[in-house]
Amino acid sequence: MNLHEYQGKELLNSFGVRIQRGIVADNHKKAVEAAKQLATETGTGWWVVKAQIHAGGRGKGGGVKLAKSLEQVESISEDIIGMMLKTPQTPPQGKKVSQVLVAEDVYYPGDNEPEEYYMSVLLNRATGKNMIMYSTEGGMDIETVAEETPHLIFTEEIDPLIGLQGFQARKIAFNLGLSGGALKEMIKFVSSLYTAFVESDSSLFEINPVLKTSDDKILAVDSKVTLDDNALFRHKDLAELRDLREENEIEVEANAAGLNYVDLDGNVGCMVNGAGLAMGTMDLIKQSGGEPANFLDVGGTADAKRVETAFRIILKDDNVKAILVNIFGGIVRCDRVAQGVIDAYKNMGDAIKVPIIVRLQGTNAIEAKQLIDDSGLDVISATEFQEAADKVQEVLA
Ligand code: GDP
Ligand code: MN
Repeated sequence: MNLHEYQGKELLNSFGVRIQRGIVADNHKKAVEAAKQLATETGTGWWVVKAQIHAGGRGKGGGVKLAKSLEQVESISEDIIGMMLKTPQTPPQGKKVSQVLVAEDVYYPGDNEPEEYYMSVLLNRATGKNMIMYSTEGGMDIETVAEETPHLIFTEEIDPLIGLQGFQARKIAFNLGLSGGALKEMIKFVSSLYTAFVESDSSLFEINPVLKTSDDKILAVDSKVTLDDNALFRHKDLAELRDLREENEIEVEANAAGLNYVDLDGNVGCMVNGAGLAMGTMDLIKQSGGEPANFLDVGGTADAKRVETAFRIILKDDNVKAILVNIFGGIVRCDRVAQGVIDAYKNMGDAIKVPIIVRLQGTNAIEAKQLIDDSGLDVISATEFQEAADKVQEVLA
């Protein structure tokens, strides 16, 4: 689960990480109020207005703007709220902005030497250790830095049993070229950041830029925080930060129905039981020249109700031109699944407008095929895996 920049910053700050302060607003009037409040609290006279969407690259896309007066805060907020913001990380049509973060300007006027660093915390799956990645080349595309000047990206691995050691935090601060007050601040920043990562059960922190101000403060100007979904049960307060507007609508609905669904770009809808078989099915569709429209694991109980829900969810995707049902009858008998498919089909009236190919294998597979073939419905049956994939290609051709 991803957090918005403002939520991520609040999380960091609660662990003692210094941040660029800001207040979120969902209309331009509130944005002005937020700016006034920030002026009182921080003494700032300039602000940055930042679109809050789950995507980076907002700066380049016109979603981060400097405001030098309250009038500008108002007009910029009015422009940004409601806009479709396009960045390299959004879908082509962009993402709708529902709120902005009005933040204190931390690049002080006349400060010609603000230093921007990059810092992230994540798991290195190969070594089973967390790592802090950091670079002096912050602010810009870290992907470009990784491609053109990879030696400017440093990595520090942390033993999960010992945690971040003092010498490691110091090494990071030194490698960033810091000294004096800024060095001390960076050590504190890194330590708090790592604690926040571990305590919140996050799977990714990316702070770009981390800023060194001319008066040697180190602060998080941006935040990308991804929480581990599997640990959300012990972070009820964080789970509440979920913004469903940012997530794929169909995925949210499938999730609520207890289905494991991931939206993809292809045109062959898949309904499969078991994650392994679901992946195998997607592979075979691809190998046979098609493109899966989704990953869908309906789970063990493929009864009529569940099959119907799955059909409805698959069909919400307009790109779907055929549906492949591939069920292995182990715990659940194939004839029961077949009956489920038939009942669901009948229940849905004429909602199903695309051909359906059903392959049932396992307990009572023969009876199941018979049921499908005798149903009189526009459903194509198959016994073998490859045969099913080929039939999908035939109906698409
Ligand atoms: P991103 O483009 O989505 O990664 O959003 P960021 O939060 O990183 O902001 C983009 C850029 O806006 C940063 O790299 C900064 O250069 C700039 N920026 C952010 N905060 C301030 C600020 O307080 N003052 C000024 N002048 N620029 C800022
Ligand atoms: Mn950024």
